Amino acid sequence: MRPVRPDRPPTVRELLATGGRSFSFEFFPPKTEKGARTLWRTIRELEPLQPTFVSVTYGAGGGTRDTTVDIVERIATDTTLTPVAHFCAVNHSQAELRHLIGRLAAAGVRNMLALRGDPPGDPMGEWISHPDGVEYAADLVRLIRATGDFSVGVAAFPYKHPRSPDIESDTRYFIEKCRAGADYAITQMFFRAEDYFRLRDRVAAAGCDVPIIPGIMPVTQLSTIERSEQLSGAPFPPEVKARFDAVADDPEAVRRLGIEHAAELCRDLLDQGAPGIHFITFNKSTATREVYGLLEADGYCGTSAPAAEPVASGSVPPMTA
Ligand code: FAD
Repeated sequence: MRPVRPDRPPTVRELLATGGRSFSFEFFPPKTEKGARTLWRTIRELEPLQPTFVSVTYGAGGGTRDTTVDIVERIATDTTLTPVAHFCAVNHSQAELRHLIGRLAAAGVRNMLALRGDPPGDPMGEWISHPDGVEYAADLVRLIRATGDFSVGVAAFPYKHPRSPDIESDTRYFIEKCRAGADYAITQMFFRAEDYFRLRDRVAAAGCDVPIIPGIMPVTQLSTIERSEQLSGAPFPPEVKARFDAVADDPEAVRRLGIEHAAELCRDLLDQGAPGIHFITFNKSTATREVYGLLEADGYCGTSAPAAEPVASGSVPPMTA
């Protein structure tokens, strides 16, 4: 789906508009030299798949903030990839946010995922605004859009955000965030296609047509299940867990099942009109490449992939190749 590079790097908005499906990979900023070597090996291993974009998370806790900016800058200058910088409002004044946006822009980065971020230390701790900062991700979207010609994505939560009191307000504020100027959204990880479709359909029913890209993390070991519950704020689907429990004492079988399950989930999502897949890689390429390979063998991605079908619900704009 990546077009030939024009005179300037494309925005995700432009890439999504070119048609076909979007495939993207997410990395996190490593804390050690060894971690940095692993990350760059992974980036180089995934580069030949020509993803629509790659994204780098932002350490809202503070420690890895500069690393995020450094990695995104290096991806922009040293690779053929289109980087998206995750960008969090937490603990930043508006002046700092503008400075960081300027730094990214100077490195040719034109894509950001605008997030509020969680309070450092305890993600569910009390949210304290920076006295000169912004309150919600919607404000950050507005600030980025007002600062320059950027394409901005936002976060979506199939099970609602853990801080949202109910699905209705979660949906309302999500749509407000889109209307503030978001071009697309990426979801928190989930493990059952219906959970994504429910989110997509309630957003569409409220009249919002921003493409929502599913965030997928293949389960490669049982500890990932526990971790996913902490991250997604939702219980792992019991029927999927039962499949993993059945092979729990065989790590290789767990890994194989994780790859198969992720590929099944992706096929289901793409068959029913999801605009693409965003893989959470944890800085390793093997599982992502295996799932991608299964999808490619079935014609969902790669050079022979057909254009995505328009969605029945009409929530995602049809993309024609
Ligand atoms: P918001 O959209 O601001 O929403 C936060 C809460 O406030 C929600 O409950 C929402 O319903 C509510 N709300 C919104 N507007 C209003 C309003 N006007 N009035 C009242 N309530 C309102 N975290 C990181 O630290 N670094 C990352 O790199 C990172 N990447 C992520 C990538 C993805 C794809 C996802 C899904 C999450 C990511 N996160 C990351 C986590 C994210 O920062 C947290 O979940 C954070 O708590 C919420 O961010 P948000 O942008 O959704 O916030």
